[in-house]
Amino acid sequence: MAKKNIWTIRFIKFSKKKFYKTGFLTGFTIRKREHARQLVENRLSYINKIYKFKINRVAIKNQKTRWGSCSSKGNLNFNYKIIYLKPALADYLIVHELCHLGQMNHSKKFWALVEKTIPDYRRINKELRRIPVKFI
Ligand SMILES: [Zn+2]
Repeated sequence: MAKKNIWTIRFIKFSKKKFYKTGFLTGFTIRKREHARQLVENRLSYINKIYKFKINRVAIKNQKTRWGSCSSKGNLNFNYKIIYLKPALADYLIVHELCHLGQMNHSKKFWALVEKTIPDYRRINKELRRIPVKFI
């Protein structure tokens, strides 16, 4: 029993070192990351047939408070918890970040881009805002 405990402690130490970045201990597993990546990339390639933006890189992250973000270098980041959202909300999130490649702000021009593919984006945006990332 004592031996088993030592092994467990060692394993946890090893896991923290090895898997900390992928959140092995916090629910963010490699499998969930891949699931999220597939979902995001499938929808992105479909939706971007309309926008035709140049996407540099897509990253799946375990951000504590954000559903997604976009950098000026054309990198799109999505929270792995997108896999728990219903399709309409996931699509909105993907369209939102994608449209930042056209407009790096929340101006009228930006929302006009979003509206191209999601006419009722206002309602969906409100719905997504009511779901805090940390509660999932
Ligand atoms: Zn935004």
